[in-house]
Amino acid sequence: MKCPHCLVDFHDSLETISIGTDIDGYWDIQLRLCSSCKRNIYHLSNSKYESLTGLTRHKSTILIRPKIASRTPVPAIVPSEYSNDYTEACLVLADSPKASAALSRRCLQYIIRQKLNIQKRDLVQEIQEVIDKGLLPTDILDSIDAIRNIGNFAAHPTKSKSTGEIVEVEPHEAEWNLDVLEMLFEYLFVRPDAIQKKRDALNAKLNDAGKNDMK
Ligand SMILES: [Zn+2]
Repeated sequence: MKCPHCLVDFHDSLETISIGTDIDGYWDIQLRLCSSCKRNIYHLSNSKYESLTGLTRHKSTILIRPKIASRTPVPAIVPSEYSNDYTEACLVLADSPKASAALSRRCLQYIIRQKLNIQKRDLVQEIQEVIDKGLLPTDILDSIDAIRNIGNFAAHPTKSKSTGEIVEVEPHEAEWNLDVLEMLFEYLFVRPDAIQKKRDALNAKLNDAGKNDMK
């Protein structure tokens, strides 16, 4: 399986620890140790013995450590002032898509204001300005545009006044916001840093050879 901590594939061997029974049936902890990051992965599993059929019916298995899975960790190059709300939005996604969407919208607004220097009355107008001015690559612009339609955000002017406003969203809509933020982190922080490092490395070679920096 793919480790939900480090996202590396590992050969899993499962250990099941019984932790009790109640009116809802048997409760187990399923334990797997990731050979890559050396962290335990815990699932809470519930099943019930059906006296009628004599079979054990499996009811549910939920991931309890780590609390969230399958999202790549924020690249280290992204300053925490930008990544904090994103990380929090990931953590609460499973429990409350609404809270997650509110956090990710606030994160998006902060990025637009600080990195793209756009400040308008509300996030919907700010997104429009970013699109009108073509401040990001087309694929990211299309993705950001979709955020306005999430939870009918754009259709309700009162809702869009405050980015922290809680609106009804579907889990996949809240997840979309996180996907868009990932794209922005990549484009605004990771790529420029990688290009700068390559440029520095080339200039170091040029300087060694007694030549001037690349323009
Ligand atoms: Zn791992």
